[in-house]
Amino acid sequence: MGKHTFSIGGVHPHDSKISRGCAIEPLPLAPVVYISVAQHIGAPSVPCVQVGDKVKVGQVIAEPGGFVSAFIHSSVSGTVKSIGPRADLAGRPATHIEIEVEGDEWLEGIDTGDTLVTKIPEDNKAIIEKIRQGGVVGLGGATFPTHVKLSPPPGSKCERVIINGCECEPYLTSDFRTLLEKGEQVVVGAAILKQVMGNVPCTVAIEENKPEAIAHIKEVIARLGYEGIEVMPMKMRYPQGGEKQLIDAVMHRQVGSGALPISVGAVVQNVATALAVYDAVQKNKPIVDNSVTVTGECFPRQANLLVRVGTPLRYIVDYLGGVPADAAKIISGGPMMGRAVANLDAATVKGTGALLFLTAAQTRRAPESHCIRCGKCADACPMGLEPFLLNKLSRNMDLEALEANAAQDCIECGCCLYSCPAHIPLLDIIRQGKGAVLGAIRARAAAAKAAAEAAKNN
Ligand code: SF4
Ligand code: SF4
Repeated sequence: MGKHTFSIGGVHPHDSKISRGCAIEPLPLAPVVYISVAQHIGAPSVPCVQVGDKVKVGQVIAEPGGFVSAFIHSSVSGTVKSIGPRADLAGRPATHIEIEVEGDEWLEGIDTGDTLVTKIPEDNKAIIEKIRQGGVVGLGGATFPTHVKLSPPPGSKCERVIINGCECEPYLTSDFRTLLEKGEQVVVGAAILKQVMGNVPCTVAIEENKPEAIAHIKEVIARLGYEGIEVMPMKMRYPQGGEKQLIDAVMHRQVGSGALPISVGAVVQNVATALAVYDAVQKNKPIVDNSVTVTGECFPRQANLLVRVGTPLRYIVDYLGGVPADAAKIISGGPMMGRAVANLDAATVKGTGALLFLTAAQTRRAPESHCIRCGKCADACPMGLEPFLLNKLSRNMDLEALEANAAQDCIECGCCLYSCPAHIPLLDIIRQGKGAVLGAIRARAAAAKAAAEAAKNN
């Protein structure tokens, strides 16, 4: 089992899934939540409540700010105390809606019961609208609004839905626990996505280090009697769960530079997103909570917590025993692609999947030395890039050459950094170059659009 994998690059970090035995447990409600209106890719949402308003769980508190945007719902019942800027996980200011928690009253019409609903509505347009109304976004890290992904542009056609259950990042186990504990709901969610995309085949891809999840999902599919949904055990290899890498592994198709998965007939959704689709369509339940792995060898208690969106990180950490004395760094996400948490007063967002605590010894980097031109970074790059070259071009901010060498295609997986014997901080430096190139590409597109509009008006 597990022979399927992508064709170039990749590394094999230790999986360190020390929280894999921790069942998902609901975190008690915090006294106050701070819900960001910018927790998805696309335009920030626009608050539609006022200070002093009473809200219930599941009530819309911010509306989409554009087509690529998402509804945001209150994750608690209580009173809106403030609406204004607050530092997010990365320390950047973003508008948050502060709600003081008063009980746990849910909006009428949301089914909070455990009964599995397997009968899928027939009207696909109505399903997509329910997914939009439920504020569903990709929960694998990208937070791209799901209803947009399910509405392919004219001329493109989906040939396969892939449910991404790889969870290839070390330490993370919330998707694994979701597969084990909510496997039925994930499979119904997969069946909904399959139907919406034209009853195409569906593959649930799970890495081979999760044999219990593979066996369970196979059993659920057989028990529920869904046809055209298969489980594909994947070889353990990082970044197997990268969207382009997974499409390569499952369909043997390559998504071109700057292209979307639909260009090769694929729609990829994460396990947690499939669950959110089930909740939105079958239970009328928007995204108000998500599973968060809290882990690290130095952390006193490993856990997978069901956390209401907007819960302050400090509240989560205190619930589990506080920040360990020997923790030197806290990461939101895994050690390869995660980002350092700038402050514990920041609140969770829909896409928060993990909090990882690392000691100074675990984060210490050996002193950087000169590139020895060994090529290990290029061998490891799953996007076929030349990280040693991008490193040099990024340091010089040579935007033209960076774009010509496809810096914009970097998926920030960190394989180059992981492989470099000279300990060059390749990812950190290439990230800066990529950011500048994407900014230049966006500026060019905006200028071209403005010029076209000016020409039309003349
Ligand atoms: S971080 Fe970017 S350049 Fe480095 S290996 Fe990953 S895709 Fe390649
Ligand atoms: S792995 Fe490091 S030392 Fe080797 S070529 Fe790449 S940047 Fe240079």
